[in-house]
Amino acid sequence: MRYESTRGKAPVLEFGDVLLAGLAEDGGLYVPTEFPRLTPADLRSFAEMSYSDVATRVLAPFVSPSIENDDLGAMIEESYATFQHPEVVPVRPLTSEIGEDRHLVELFWGPTFSFKDVALQLLGRLFEHELSRRDTTVTIVGATSGDTGSAAIEACRDRDGIDLVMLHPRGRVSEVQRRQMTTVASTNIHNVAIEGTFDDCQDLVKAMFADLQFREQHRLAAVNSINWARVAAQTVYYFTTASKLVSPNERISFCVPTGNFGNIFAGYIAAQMGLPVHRLVIASNHNDILTRAHASGIMEIQEVEPSTSPAMDIQVSSNFERLLFDLSGKDASWLRDAMQEFRSNGSLTLEPPVLERLRNFFDAGTATEQEVAKTIAQVHSTQQQFLDPHTAVGVNVARQIDLGNAPVAIMATAHPAKFEAVVKEATGVAPPQPEEITALGDKPERCADLPNDLTSVMEFVLGVSE
Ligand SMILES: *Cc1c(COP(=O)(O)O)cnc(C)c1O
Repeated sequence: MRYESTRGKAPVLEFGDVLLAGLAEDGGLYVPTEFPRLTPADLRSFAEMSYSDVATRVLAPFVSPSIENDDLGAMIEESYATFQHPEVVPVRPLTSEIGEDRHLVELFWGPTFSFKDVALQLLGRLFEHELSRRDTTVTIVGATSGDTGSAAIEACRDRDGIDLVMLHPRGRVSEVQRRQMTTVASTNIHNVAIEGTFDDCQDLVKAMFADLQFREQHRLAAVNSINWARVAAQTVYYFTTASKLVSPNERISFCVPTGNFGNIFAGYIAAQMGLPVHRLVIASNHNDILTRAHASGIMEIQEVEPSTSPAMDIQVSSNFERLLFDLSGKDASWLRDAMQEFRSNGSLTLEPPVLERLRNFFDAGTATEQEVAKTIAQVHSTQQQFLDPHTAVGVNVARQIDLGNAPVAIMATAHPAKFEAVVKEATGVAPPQPEEITALGDKPERCADLPNDLTSVMEFVLGVSE
């Protein structure tokens, strides 16, 4: 398997290089030159297999030839042994008041209780493995709107060869999210609160990676959803979910609370690999650039308005570039110009053929704050089940759109206890709290405050990497 950049001007690499590189040298994102195909026999066999065995089968072609199959299998076993549910990613039904044949895919049983753990538990181990093979070290620099940060920290704490600098927008992550990051005492973990939005944090990280000299000198690496290994790891639960809900030749739809487009893009990859997907539904909160682009063909940046689902408070969805590359027929030169235009004008017009292909696969919808609160309250009163606000966006949007008769799997991306205040406000009851979250309240916090300023952040990274 080889990987090429969406902007067409970076070297073609194999998995180990792409893992450590993160962003490509030309500013693009790495994608496989070809998607591996699974056979109907593969899909049939998944119903009888453990999550880890399916993951090993699905991921083997992506990591070859960099990583041996036995090593991959061992890392996958270890990663998913950290999950609290024996099925790793269980699926449960929603009542018919929400619509017929609707299901919740519980992605939040990992160590930090968000779907980010599914990919990052594996990513931390892949990094350590590849670094020791090359006898080198990295400084991972990341931006988080809340959940990536804690999941990355939990995945990288005390791992050999890794320092981790994590930027989050100050005051714009929940208290639990902040404590999950800042209470980790490991000396290789460095938290920074930026005076700005998540997009500001992400721009700072992108700017550091764009400075090739700085990036090489300090051996920067990324664990953002721009890292291909994360997208690949997330394809697995599309397969396991389908194997629980439909027979191998039946279609299924997925509705995905979307921010950086990493989760739902993994669903698109699963479809390219042979999973019979009916529709993929992009579910947004009021920061709905993708819903607007899907409806009008014009992708236009607006101000980010904070919401109760902060992991989705995003206007620039990094992984959307990967989709545009594929939908344009891998036209890297068109994409270079398009991304340039988007950066300078804050707006991009999708050509009719690209828009048509987008609509062939995807639906899109927006849930307002009011709809989110109502959905949380309704699901609680009808089936005594708590939804976190991100998941509620997905449940609400799945109800707005006519998805025909195929079953609909809605991605439940965070444990409700991570967003206790919002859930309690909507239902009048606090959701049950896992003891790991309760214990955070007693631990001291460690975090640096920095302005939204590239030089200050680079100085901080320099201090860590030396
Ligand atoms: C990260 C996150 C999302 C958004 O996922 P993307 O892959 O960035 O689209 C949604 N919900 C929760 C709880 C998250 O942590």
